[in-house]
Amino acid sequence: MTMQDPVCAYLEPRDLSLGPVPHVPIEGVPTEGMRHWTYTRDAAGVAWAVLDKQDASTNTLSQEVIEELAQILDKVDERAPKALVIRSAKREGFLAGADIAEFRGVTDEAAIRRRIEAAHGVVDRLAALTIPTIAVMHGYAMGGGLEIALACTQRIAVDGTRFGFPEVQLGLHPGLGGTARFTHLCVPIKAMSFMLTGKSIHDRQAKAMGLVDALVPERHVQAAVDAAVAGALPQPRQGFVDRIKDSAPARRMAARQMRAEAEQQAPSAHYPAPHALIDLWEEHGGDFEAMKRAEIASFARLMLTDTAQNLIRMFFLRQKLKDLSHADAPEAAHVHVIGAGAMGGDIAAWCAWKGLRASLSDVKAEAIGRAVDRAAKLYEKIAHGDRLKIRDALDRLIPDPQGHGIARADIVIEAAPEKIDLKRKLYAEAEPRMKGGAILASNTSSIPLAQLREGLARPERFVGIHFFNPVSRLDLVEVIAHGGLSAEAEGIARAFVGRIGKLPAPARSEPGFIVNRILTPYLAEAMVLMDEGLAPETIDRAATDFGMPMGPLELADQVGLDVALDVAEMLKRDLGWPLPDAPAWLREKVEAGDLGRKSGKGIYLWKDGKAVKEKAEAPDPELADRLILPMANTAVAVLREGVSEDAEVIDAAMIFGTGFAPFRGGPLHYAQTRGVDDVVAALSRLAERHGARFEPDAGWELLR
Ligand code: NAD
Repeated sequence: MTMQDPVCAYLEPRDLSLGPVPHVPIEGVPTEGMRHWTYTRDAAGVAWAVLDKQDASTNTLSQEVIEELAQILDKVDERAPKALVIRSAKREGFLAGADIAEFRGVTDEAAIRRRIEAAHGVVDRLAALTIPTIAVMHGYAMGGGLEIALACTQRIAVDGTRFGFPEVQLGLHPGLGGTARFTHLCVPIKAMSFMLTGKSIHDRQAKAMGLVDALVPERHVQAAVDAAVAGALPQPRQGFVDRIKDSAPARRMAARQMRAEAEQQAPSAHYPAPHALIDLWEEHGGDFEAMKRAEIASFARLMLTDTAQNLIRMFFLRQKLKDLSHADAPEAAHVHVIGAGAMGGDIAAWCAWKGLRASLSDVKAEAIGRAVDRAAKLYEKIAHGDRLKIRDALDRLIPDPQGHGIARADIVIEAAPEKIDLKRKLYAEAEPRMKGGAILASNTSSIPLAQLREGLARPERFVGIHFFNPVSRLDLVEVIAHGGLSAEAEGIARAFVGRIGKLPAPARSEPGFIVNRILTPYLAEAMVLMDEGLAPETIDRAATDFGMPMGPLELADQVGLDVALDVAEMLKRDLGWPLPDAPAWLREKVEAGDLGRKSGKGIYLWKDGKAVKEKAEAPDPELADRLILPMANTAVAVLREGVSEDAEVIDAAMIFGTGFAPFRGGPLHYAQTRGVDDVVAALSRLAERHGARFEPDAGWELLR
């Protein structure tokens, strides 16, 4: 049997720890005619339906699982048990959401509706049973899994269970009756906010909001079930005030506020799901059956949107990069980082957080001290109060001015200043001290690895591992190969990236690799637009209106104008690229030390980590094309030249390395969705008007 990674849902690694073996009174084999469920009856006459999805490590609600649930309900009808308990046999959890693979690439709205109607029919049958029905949840209960639990009369959760409706993250909302059941069970505004944010909550929060009736340790599950069967568990009831709050005028008022907040977080033009959910509740919140019916139509409509399909695609792109880290390589336990600056310090801190020993050296002891201080601040932010975890991570982060760790490390990462001679000197010192089997990596952004590897005794064990800034927030890491790199060392590098919870994007050592190469023309064009007299706010708005998380000028300030300028000059020089010359004002700013966020002043003024901006004017529609199409054009060049041979890896790198509008699916996918002919024509028009830098790349032929 192969244990596949779930193509389900939305589980984070922390949701996947193994708890005790779930209690069931009688072990059974899957019931005849079923692959996934077991139906047994205990001595007290209570039926237990236990789900253990075959060939999967996680229970997901595939169509087959739902169809078999219908068979379970047939048995309940036939055998009239005293009560029905629904439970999972998987140690890690109850039920994740739907099987997302079944949502991918769907195009027939009527067919989706029929499928969802059929699934609703099964869940409605469960809800209509006249015996007590009890969901016993452990580990996690997500999306469709939680909707099944909501259709039961009682919900028992084992301590530590997490609950979530993460559908909005996939451009959807709950679709199995959950919108109606949840807003009728709990205080509607709280239920709505839970579904709108898509964030998960822990056991006590779920108990407090009435989502679960009892919270018990695993060893008390049987007693809690007995109490539920006997009607002795308290049933939460909405109070009078809550019912008043659910009147149509109150819903209208609350919906208005929710819409305004949702618009801020996720504009309706790009992310329709939260707004559809609010509409659903505002219109039908007072009528349970009508809300369920309307939910089906709304869910089916959303499923066909480009947004949902691209967010679902993004889920699979993440999976694809994760799979690239499953290399057959020994697991790294110790990393040594040379250079404790902006990048090296944060790389070491991240590795220590993820469980590796991370020693850190620098010529300046103060740099190491500052890096450790930054690490402590980062851990405070991401540990959610887990002091032990913070202490352990700080223990693993080892200040090491003499570089003793080099001899013990499985991976040595150099993150010294971008100077070829300095880096080569550091390799000459480090390589002889490294243990056999270890690999040497550079975080260089721009120096060709073929030049850096000169003079190395073991160039086959030298690789680029290129992180993005800020390290803790950007999931992508480019793994850069050069002609002499061994497959084994590349595998070790990829596996290391996976080991620290990041996503490897393999690339060849060509100037700018994948991400900086594609991003640079976008930043450069924004500078040209500023030279043409446009306000930075207007330029940035053209990009954010397109769906980018921030505009190119704010991004340049974030990255550092000095870094952006260096990369642009390198690309212009090394590729002979027709990039516009950097404007004089940019050089002046860099010389004056106005570098952006890090110096408090760049293109914008920065206060409390935020750019101070004037209100933006509505941008001319051509602006978005001037900014976005050069990225698509360069992405095509990257594909044509084989910097990466995989269009999906290129799209994924831009989404996970820069936040490229996720609902657009990446620059290449965007161009294909818009139509290659249309994009090429638009580029040609721009080239005529603004210069050769817009000339369509020869590689567009590959995408036709
Ligand atoms: P930085 O200037 O912040 O840090 C470099 C550190 O190296 C400094 O602390 C310096 O004291 C130390 N150093 C100098 N000489 C040394 C020596 N001989 N031995 C040990 N340490 C020495 O630079 P950074 O921004 O962290 O960049 C480091 C590398 O990462 C560069 O190759 C850069 O291209 C790359 N990079 C930078 C970014 C970014 O956004 N800053 C992003 C990706 C990659």
